Amino acid sequence: MSEINHRIRVHTGDVTKLAVDAIVNAANTSLLGGGGVDGAIHRAAGPELEFECRMLNGCKVGDAKLTRGYRLPARFIIHTVGPVWQGGGKGEAELLASCYRRSLELAAANGCRTVAFPAISTGVYRYPKEQATQIAVDTVSAFIGQKAVPETVIFCCFDQQTAELYQQALLRLAERD
Ligand code: ADP
Repeated sequence: MSEINHRIRVHTGDVTKLAVDAIVNAANTSLLGGGGVDGAIHRAAGPELEFECRMLNGCKVGDAKLTRGYRLPARFIIHTVGPVWQGGGKGEAELLASCYRRSLELAAANGCRTVAFPAISTGVYRYPKEQATQIAVDTVSAFIGQKAVPETVIFCCFDQQTAELYQQALLRLAERD
């Protein structure tokens, strides 16, 4: 198994519980909270998070912004905005890859050694899970292959079915390298 595979983990559970340097939020362009993982993160972090988010003037699709983690065990929250799935012909794949890249750039710039990602865009934004998983694994492995930080990336899956998709993609990665 490659060195990169050793730096990627799959975890099944709630990303708000993870004591890592940064968790990533699948936010929307307003950055003011929403449903799904975004709602869970805002509830767990407390109202100070929305106060800081209000000062950020939103976030573009494919981009990311960093805040403190407040009441979360994680030190930072990296808010990224995934694309809404519209059939695949609207640049969704490149925008989703950009979410992972921009989040990792911010993590590296802030000295985050361990970062946890939920499956961005695969909930309300309806990105097909297998395709989204492949993009997540390809983009993260390419990034950490070039950089020493983050040292470890965790794919935090909310359900076992999603975790299995990640395990399969990581197995393909190990076989390829
Ligand atoms: P998006 O709008 O980007 O699709 P969602 O929050 O609707 O974001 O869903 C993204 C993914 O996050 C989904 O796969 C969903 O199952 C998962 N999810 C929801 N809540 C949590 C949580 N607390 N921790 C980790 N993953 C979560």
